[in-house]
Amino acid sequence: MRIARFSDGTNPVYGALEEGSKRIVGLKGDPLFSPVEPSGQIYELDEVRLLSPVIPRSKVVGIGNNYSDTPIPADERPEPPMFLKANTSVIGPDDPIAIPAWSNDVAFEGELAIVIKSLAKDVSASDASQVILGYTVANDVTARDAMTGGPWARGKSFDTSCPLGPWITVDPTLDVTNLAIRSYLNGEKAQDSSTAHMIWNPFELVSYVSHQMTLLPGDVIATGAPAGAEIVHAGDRVEIEIEGIGRLTNPVVRA
Ligand code: MG
Repeated sequence: MRIARFSDGTNPVYGALEEGSKRIVGLKGDPLFSPVEPSGQIYELDEVRLLSPVIPRSKVVGIGNNYSDTPIPADERPEPPMFLKANTSVIGPDDPIAIPAWSNDVAFEGELAIVIKSLAKDVSASDASQVILGYTVANDVTARDAMTGGPWARGKSFDTSCPLGPWITVDPTLDVTNLAIRSYLNGEKAQDSSTAHMIWNPFELVSYVSHQMTLLPGDVIATGAPAGAEIVHAGDRVEIEIEGIGRLTNPVVRA
């Protein structure tokens, strides 16, 4: 099942759709905080505007340096760099990424994103799946020229720097440790990898992060980018595709 959040013309609405289907079954309330119950409304995917499938109430946690074509043995892995993106940085599918006036080096980073379902503190990797609602696509947009010599908040957390979508895939049979991940800049392939090349897999990351800070329902973990991320300019179009999840597309403008 896929959980989408979209505009019905006036308000954000949640809905569920099956893979390959264009028919969205409307849901009552927010499925993160209330039982999944049909509202009785049916929508056509082509006729609604998809929004970010989740607006984290507390945080997006970013992970760096998490891809390697030659996985490092578990006992030799350094702890992954971790940072935060404000929930105000989140935008949805087709929303424009706005390059800040103060940056000339903004890059996209296509990443698998984990959406947390329930409060998680000190969770083991083997229990992590119990606190995960599902997965979506994240673009960890980064102003690289604001990353040198200090905290990463400006470079990682400016408005529009966290596109999420197109929906949350909820599928216990999806093997998230072996999904193709690709991105395209103006139709030209940029990243081309697999989540099999992650150094820390999604379950290990949930465990690691939950030992640093409590995760809350709706929190998102962006799991790091494979090689191939590129600088963007106004007028560009970035597409990120993850096998079994979907494709997230955003245009780029100058703020
Ligand atoms: Mg990143």
